[in-house]
Amino acid sequence: MSSLESVDNEKFDAPVIGHFIDGQEVAGEGRMSDVFNPARGVVSKKVALAGADIYETAVVACKNAFPAWRNTPPQKRAQIMFRFKQLLEENADDICALITDEHGKVLDDARGELTRGIEVVEYACGISELLKGQFSKNAGPDIDSWSEFQPLGIVAGITPFNFPAMVPMWMFPLAIACGNTFILKPSERDPSAPILIARLLSEAGLPNGVFNVVNGDKETVDLILQDERIQAVSFVGSTPIAEAIYKKGTSSGKRVQALGGAKNHAVIMPDADIENAANALMGAAYGSCGERCMAISVAVCVGEEISNKVVASLKDRIKKLRIGPGTDTANDMGPLITQEAYTRIHSYVEEGLNQGAELVADGRNLEVSGYENGFFVGGFLFDKVTREMSIYTDEIFGPVLCVVRVKNLDEAMALINEHEYGNGTCVFTRDGETARYFTDNIQVGMVGVNVALPVPVASQSFGGWKRSLFGDLYVYGPDAIRFYTRRKTMTQRWPADNKTEKTKFAFPSGGT
Ligand code: NAD
Repeated sequence: MSSLESVDNEKFDAPVIGHFIDGQEVAGEGRMSDVFNPARGVVSKKVALAGADIYETAVVACKNAFPAWRNTPPQKRAQIMFRFKQLLEENADDICALITDEHGKVLDDARGELTRGIEVVEYACGISELLKGQFSKNAGPDIDSWSEFQPLGIVAGITPFNFPAMVPMWMFPLAIACGNTFILKPSERDPSAPILIARLLSEAGLPNGVFNVVNGDKETVDLILQDERIQAVSFVGSTPIAEAIYKKGTSSGKRVQALGGAKNHAVIMPDADIENAANALMGAAYGSCGERCMAISVAVCVGEEISNKVVASLKDRIKKLRIGPGTDTANDMGPLITQEAYTRIHSYVEEGLNQGAELVADGRNLEVSGYENGFFVGGFLFDKVTREMSIYTDEIFGPVLCVVRVKNLDEAMALINEHEYGNGTCVFTRDGETARYFTDNIQVGMVGVNVALPVPVASQSFGGWKRSLFGDLYVYGPDAIRFYTRRKTMTQRWPADNKTEKTKFAFPSGGT
């Protein structure tokens, strides 16, 4: 493992990632953070961390761009989205290479996240339809009433490291299609893809200042949260930060949606198709090295027989996992994002062992030839995990799957319903009644039946329950239109013959 935690800025001759403001790239200076290549375990770039001056230029750009952009017809905004989608597809290889370089995930997985992001852009292409108001003719004599959805103004997005392209695209395509101007504060761990994406948006014809990328850390986030000119904040990240952002943002009068962490359970019923369930669990638990908010981290097996079969089947499959640099398309799993993540996962494994869980597959001490300093681990599988253990209660955010053995479906569902997180879950069964009972009564926002990663498509909306989401509206899909707009309702009377009416003191006066 690399002991290289940070390097001396003076001596370090590496690319510095700056910002994208008012239609152009802005060089980074001042405070910097290291960007690692996690497969090699070395710092490969630096990213600038914006202070008040840089942040202010972005807000001024947004403010100046807003009046014209809000009045741009929705179909003109949609035309930019169509061109943007095409440019994303044409530049997909470059975007995915940047993701793999800084995040570590395998290229296929980077392609998958970009595809899901592009689907939101496709949805935003229909903005003329999505923004159509609602009309009530003859609400009263000579009176018509209608609602329209107006943009909020300047809105911001703060995003996590695990989907450097997709999660920003959960937010900004719809925010700007609705007529807002946008500041994105990406994760400082993999900031390059958002800058390239900003360049493509500009190339697609987006007016300067409508979309800006300001790299930074907590200091930059605090500037956003304290700023009264920012009308709304979309946040995706860990639960403690999501909660703090929601509280700070709403206390300064902003609209906030803050999506947090997860501990997603898959229930495997005795009648499940074991082969299909085990295959799906492998992808959902170990894909992207378990660094997904929808990753399955708990397999709840109903009955001893199915538990034994699932554990045996997973154990076999874990041995066959191909682990190595994400650039090698033969690999299933790349490295973890940082040395810190590597250390955290090892300490959870120690805790699991100390607390009495059975380690069936041990991903420690993995050597990847030629990448000895990379942040690699193998797949971990714990059996006989119980609800008090920290490997069960906490979000580990790595390739660690816990098997909990229960007696029946109600016990499995109680476990899930009593967990603090409620992002995703699924059930594997061949029985329709079980599936219906599960989907109806489970206290989780996104539910799969024989689907391990029930990530909603772009025309639905994405969000969890309980401490996986602070705020009322989900991201993308129809909820995003509501989140990024404010309803205005007009009531209008045009008396046919312009006659003078008598004063009425009763309420309501319009309709009678
Ligand atoms: P994180 O919370 O550390 O960081 C997220 C963002 O917040 C980053 O932009 C970061 O710069 C900023 N930030 C970090 N500390 C801050 C602080 N003290 N004050 C203000 N801002 C701060 O999350 P991460 O490690 O980048 O991402 C992993 C987490 O994100 C996991 O918990 C995962 O479950 C969660 N996640 C959730 C979803 C979802 O949809 N619910 C999706 C993806 C990731």
